Amino acid sequence: MKKLLLFDIDGTLIRSNGAGRLTLAYALEKRFGTAGPLEHYNMSGKTDPRIITDLLTAVGISPKEIQTNLPAIYELMAEHGQDIFAQRGITACVGVPELLAALNARDDVLLGLLTGNSQLTAPLKLTAAGIDPLQFKVGAYGSDAMDRNELPTLGMARANQLTGELFDGNNTVIIGDTPADILCARAGKATAVAVASGWHAAATLAEYRPDFLFENFGDTSGVLDALLPAPERP
Ligand SMILES: [Mg+2]
Repeated sequence: MKKLLLFDIDGTLIRSNGAGRLTLAYALEKRFGTAGPLEHYNMSGKTDPRIITDLLTAVGISPKEIQTNLPAIYELMAEHGQDIFAQRGITACVGVPELLAALNARDDVLLGLLTGNSQLTAPLKLTAAGIDPLQFKVGAYGSDAMDRNELPTLGMARANQLTGELFDGNNTVIIGDTPADILCARAGKATAVAVASGWHAAATLAEYRPDFLFENFGDTSGVLDALLPAPERP
């Protein structure tokens, strides 16, 4: 039976060194003349529409107006990302290139993304970190839903559609670096894998009781053991 692995991007696959925040500031200032309280806002584990809505409602813009402008904001963010990502030193997290190479060598795995980024920005960030976005065959993005917990069902449905195989919580693993990723895996009844390569310490993540917890993905074979059933290992 194939497994669907849905990876978060920021803090899990890559470190963006503040580049995400800069694209957000650029887009909101260009469209609304303000980025709201962005400097003090905690973006961890949140979807882009959640972040944008919080920041703009804080300065009195109506949810309806924000909603209408979301597609334009995503485009501005991607446009600015194309300009700055290459120079911002976006890097792959420790062990990620090796882990993805090992996963790509197997035929019992379907790689996907589950990220708060919009569908436009996600491939740009990955490419800037030297990670080929095309290896991820399905994705559930922030541009699909404001609530991250709605994304697992969507990712599984897209995997079903693509392969004709049945993906549900029993054969789906959600991998991320924040408490929100763990809760999101629970919402999708999927296996929760947490990695402390982002903004949260392993001890903090442990409080949310993920099924597996790693300091980073440096130990490729140890991570493969957690992600995939042992008998199928080559
Ligand atoms: Mg993250």
